[in-house]
Amino acid sequence: MEQQVVRHPGGFPVVGIIGGGQLARMCQPPAVGLSLTLAVLAEAPDASAALVVPASPVGAHDDLETVREFARACDVVTFDHEHVPAEVLAALEADGVELHPRPSALLYAQDKLAMRERLTGIGVRCPRWARVDSVADLGEFGADVGFPLVLKTPRGGYDGKGVRVVADAAEAADWFERAADEGLLAEEQVAFTRELAVLVARSPSGQAAAWPVVETVQTGGICTEVIAPAPDLDAALAATVTAAALQVAGELDVTGVMAVELFEVAGASGPDYVVNELAMRPHNSGHWTIDGAVTSQFEQHLRAVLDLPLGDPHSRAPWTVMGNVLGGDAPEHAELYSTYRHLLARDPGLKMHLYGKQVRPGRKIGHVTVFGDDLADLRERADHATGYLRGTITE
Ligand code: ADP
Repeated sequence: MEQQVVRHPGGFPVVGIIGGGQLARMCQPPAVGLSLTLAVLAEAPDASAALVVPASPVGAHDDLETVREFARACDVVTFDHEHVPAEVLAALEADGVELHPRPSALLYAQDKLAMRERLTGIGVRCPRWARVDSVADLGEFGADVGFPLVLKTPRGGYDGKGVRVVADAAEAADWFERAADEGLLAEEQVAFTRELAVLVARSPSGQAAAWPVVETVQTGGICTEVIAPAPDLDAALAATVTAAALQVAGELDVTGVMAVELFEVAGASGPDYVVNELAMRPHNSGHWTIDGAVTSQFEQHLRAVLDLPLGDPHSRAPWTVMGNVLGGDAPEHAELYSTYRHLLARDPGLKMHLYGKQVRPGRKIGHVTVFGDDLADLRERADHATGYLRGTITE
């Protein structure tokens, strides 16, 4: 594994990130500002982050010796994703590597069953759920909460993969065959009014900060738009979910940025919430903060993992809208640069964030952000830009 880490003069540390995706990539601009050196353990030489971080050795995140060697050059190590195996994390911790979040916290973002058990234990509201090991277990749970219900693989899911709605227990037989001893997570299907997310950061010494609660809009199981702050959100609910996220961060001893994905539901005495899941890293629901907040989630994550004082999480504008750019179907749209002349001329306030990824249909290849006073106008502009980049709008 070839690796060259050049430290900036002046005692600035090296922050290592395992995984070379867009999250690691978007840590680079604030790292430059803070004069930190980033090192990235990348999947390939053309991984999203490897294109912008000079110290990007290529290596497997699940190979202990590779990860060990990578960690040796770093002062602190954090993550672009949640897929580093528990055995590798345990060995690094035993080596004395400064890991953030720590494996004992990260577990609750890696394993949805462990997360449900822990959140329920500390009194944070979740959908009704059960661990199910067989079609019979699922039938029993379904008799209790009703079908259809939602079945999830505890580990390894993303963008709705590993989540399925089942109309009856027998339908899920194939998943039980594959689940082996791990078990599956069954949840009631929540009749939510919308999806929200709370993003918080917490440092090892316990300082914490929360950004405004956002609404996340999903299309076909993928988040396509984030609105900050969530429009017309009940003030008491905003305070409740923010307090719940800070409680989770504190009780689980989370270090770095954590996103809590929520469902807003109509409760008996007004709007209420249940938690969907946790992510312990910068998150798609926080991309708006790059342009829309005083401190972005990427800068905050770097500050938090280094135990530096946290930055101000407030918004810079009344509204910020982030639109995810998904890859289009038409081959001619692989040449994304050709969209710039029209897009940048049409909307000088549009902020582009492309990830340097090959265009594949439906793949998240970037996002755009707009901010200002008029929410309807901002949504229209973000929607136009993402549609144009995807090739579904041609002018
Ligand atoms: P992933 O880990 O792939 O992001 P999630 O657990 O976030 O999976 O689920 C993906 C989507 O499926 C959610 O954004 C939501 O729209 C829907 N979903 C998940 N759990 C439930 C549930 N219990 N009730 C209703 N919808 C759900």
